[in-house]
Amino acid sequence: MNPSIDKALVVETHANFHTPNYAPSHLFVRGEGSYLWDSEGKKYLDFVSGIAVTALGHCHPAMVKALKEQSEKLFHVSNLYYNEHAPFLAKTLSEMTMGGKVLFCNSGAEANEGLIKLARKWGADTGRYEIITMRNSFHGRTLATLTATGQEKVQTGFAPLPEGFVYANFNDLESVKASQTLSTVAVMLELVQAEGGVMPVDKDFIEGVAAWCKEQNLLLLIDEIQTGMGRTGKDFAYKHYDIEPDAISLAKGLGGGFPMGAVVTGEKLQDVFSPGSHGTTFGGQPLACAMARTVLDVFAEEDICANAQAMGELLTTLLSPLVKKYDFIESLRGQGLLLGLVIDRPAKELEQLLAERGLLTVCTAGNVIRMLPPLNVTSDQVREAVAIIEDACAAWKF
Ligand SMILES: *Cc1c(COP(=O)(O)O)cnc(C)c1O
Repeated sequence: MNPSIDKALVVETHANFHTPNYAPSHLFVRGEGSYLWDSEGKKYLDFVSGIAVTALGHCHPAMVKALKEQSEKLFHVSNLYYNEHAPFLAKTLSEMTMGGKVLFCNSGAEANEGLIKLARKWGADTGRYEIITMRNSFHGRTLATLTATGQEKVQTGFAPLPEGFVYANFNDLESVKASQTLSTVAVMLELVQAEGGVMPVDKDFIEGVAAWCKEQNLLLLIDEIQTGMGRTGKDFAYKHYDIEPDAISLAKGLGGGFPMGAVVTGEKLQDVFSPGSHGTTFGGQPLACAMARTVLDVFAEEDICANAQAMGELLTTLLSPLVKKYDFIESLRGQGLLLGLVIDRPAKELEQLLAERGLLTVCTAGNVIRMLPPLNVTSDQVREAVAIIEDACAAWKF
């Protein structure tokens, strides 16, 4: 299909010219909807979605059209100037969430940096800066966000780490309360620890944390970078619970494949920054905002969240006999279309068996097969994936 693409040359050039922090496998050259094709023309059902990014699948016609149209008008002008998309995207995000104001940026880590800076600026008057985060969390790879991340493996070798983060046990309210000091300003957490092995939050825990934050005048910061934008079957995962965050961070699915992040605030944080106190060159540029607006338009037109909820339920129902049948599958957990098959041993090999059979998944936390289908995946595609999983499980030999 692509005789001009020489995979061996790509692999060799990658090895020679990329810093060695990734270990990529396939070379994909084309995508359409829920499918990808590699350089040899082999077709794959994509249950990774670029790590929860391509929420509408690959090359959705509305996204292609928006990209073409905007690219012929204007790419970038910087935040020195207004643009015709950013304010309306901000308005939509605000109206969908806590009604505050929005800060645009380019990635998840940058969005979480924004959350952290907002919290510190808000706390500065009272000398409070410390943020309680959860063990086994994941918040990004910049120095502050890898410090917020409660996993030693992402921190090793990068000392000295910035101060001001303490770790509590996820789903353990007493542990969170015990982590409070006079310097505590906020609690920051995910509602499904996705990289951490698809660990959903307990309802009692998160509602308890939210109530306690209110009582103690602490900020509740929710990292919705992976759980947001419909991934869990609601537009934002916090809406599954009776809580009101002071701010959420978004990225991944927001641009549907175009790099884009945002911090969406509530009333307390919306006016904390003043001109000059934070900034970014690219954040909120017209091209990215046109893409994100299109994502949200398609969400409304195609009722994407309802589909994510229904397809998540279908996938769960169809996989449950396999969970019973195979001793090596411990459980299936997650929410909406953020699901993990928990294996009782390292699962990288199973991920490979699935890929050989044409299903892409991403092994996380060593033993969890994480599935992140596009949110507009169809029931036929879900059935196709389940058949492949069944076949791979039957073929797996230890
Ligand atoms: C992916 C992710 C991040 C980091 O986002 P980047 O765009 O890779 O910087 C932060 N938090 C969560 C929950 C994520 O899933």
